[in-house]
Amino acid sequence: MGIGQSPTRSTPSSTYSDDSGATRRSLALSVIGGSTVDPELDAATDQGPKEECGVFGVWAPGEEVAKLTYYGLYALQHRGQEAAGIAVADGSEIVVFKDLGLVSQVFDEQTLTALKGHIAVGHCRYSTTGSGSWENAQPTFATTSVGSGLALGHNGNLVNTAELALAANKPAGRAGPSKSTTDSDIVTRLLAEAATDVGIETAALRLFPSLKGAFNFVFCDEHTLYAARDPHGVHPLVLGRLDRGWVVASETAALDIVGASYVREVEPGELLAIDEDGIRSERFASSNPKGCVFEYVYLARPDTTISGRGVHATRVDIGRRLAVEAPIEADLVIPTPESGTPAAIGYAQQAGIPYGQGLVKNAYVGRTFIQPSQTIRQLGIRLKLNPLRDVIRGKRLVVVDDSIVRGNTQRALVRMLREAGAVEVHVRIASPPVRWPCFYGLDFGTRAELIASASEVDDVRRSIGADSLGYISLDSLVAATEQPRNRLCTACFTGEYPIAIPDQVGKHVLEGIARGVTGDAFAPIPNYGQACALSRP
Ligand code: SF4
Repeated sequence: MGIGQSPTRSTPSSTYSDDSGATRRSLALSVIGGSTVDPELDAATDQGPKEECGVFGVWAPGEEVAKLTYYGLYALQHRGQEAAGIAVADGSEIVVFKDLGLVSQVFDEQTLTALKGHIAVGHCRYSTTGSGSWENAQPTFATTSVGSGLALGHNGNLVNTAELALAANKPAGRAGPSKSTTDSDIVTRLLAEAATDVGIETAALRLFPSLKGAFNFVFCDEHTLYAARDPHGVHPLVLGRLDRGWVVASETAALDIVGASYVREVEPGELLAIDEDGIRSERFASSNPKGCVFEYVYLARPDTTISGRGVHATRVDIGRRLAVEAPIEADLVIPTPESGTPAAIGYAQQAGIPYGQGLVKNAYVGRTFIQPSQTIRQLGIRLKLNPLRDVIRGKRLVVVDDSIVRGNTQRALVRMLREAGAVEVHVRIASPPVRWPCFYGLDFGTRAELIASASEVDDVRRSIGADSLGYISLDSLVAATEQPRNRLCTACFTGEYPIAIPDQVGKHVLEGIARGVTGDAFAPIPNYGQACALSRP
């Protein structure tokens, strides 16, 4: 077995506010924590909601599976930009290659050519449990005591990680302790441990019912590709067909990019096993769908389809509904590119206001590991967006964005548009106020960091400096997805978590256990309240 590594609660109706101070249909909210923003953090480093991870798997004898996986991950790069990795199995061994960085930075032609086999598991990562260290990059790897290997990629986030960590490190555990601090690594070790006696397939069917939270696992041993989805199907996972094999991927767009035809979704609570005997489907839990509504708002690519509904069409529909719920007289509708673009198109169509491109995004900006210098930092949002002054000057603008998390980006954006000559800036948001953290794979930070968690809509409007601010209602957002409300997770807007959250949760839960401390993701930070966030800068 070789492991290669690189050298190196109750809410809304729609909420709308304008600078007359009117807050229409806004809600009275209980204030749990003030918004806290690192004074050093500005729009240059505020990246809004952080994506989760992308997973991709191939079983295809005769194909260059590493290259197929590379392009699959390339299509899923938006889901995780901290690290990337591919594991390849050839029937006798598994080789894992992974590193920090974008997919195109981690792999080159030579590396991919050296990864030979007929099974591949790929992963691109944003850290939602554990820090962004090399050890936490995926696929994770473990060996059973009989010497077979197991490589695993995980999209989502478990909420009983601490409990599982204790089980994985119990004295009798054969998998032993690990430097990794991810829920994914713990599952890999527990699976390898259990597989020693009964094989991976049976071990997975026994282990997965004990996992709580969101998980899409794509994993393999030397002979078989596996894919499993949590009983709530929080995040998407689809099955595709190649001429000479099978593909599983986080999004349908990744199937398109590698020339695979869409077959179906992996069902919530289902385990798929793919090998020379064909494809087997088994259940480890009954299906109780609670799909992440934020996939439609922001996470998924617009050219992806989730539960039969196209993401682009959903976002355009959100924009139309937003125009009805939060109308304004204006000269031009512009998006915050790219995630705000479909909703801006819908808003403009419904409102009868011209649509235009008022901001240019640097299409080649990925995650950077280089901290900006003070000079660059002061330029803030211009690292990502630059205004088209000729388009903006003298106009009353509607600016459509997908969401507001901390508010830093929108504050800098409004200021930049005014400096570019806009006479009015009206901000419209294609999701309800984000008031609660996500524990299922998306990193909004803690509740104390969310600007809307402790603020009325008009407070947020004043904080970002807009002439008016309008959010779509949750009812309209759900209607645009064409999914039944009871089949969706909306917890970051409502605080109603469909999977119970244990007391001890948070991204760094395992580092906390190691230091003997416990975390409380709901806790406010003392003396760092609402006014602090609202007064910046
Ligand atoms: S809390 Fe929000 S982001 Fe997280 S899974 Fe639920 S809808 Fe998605």
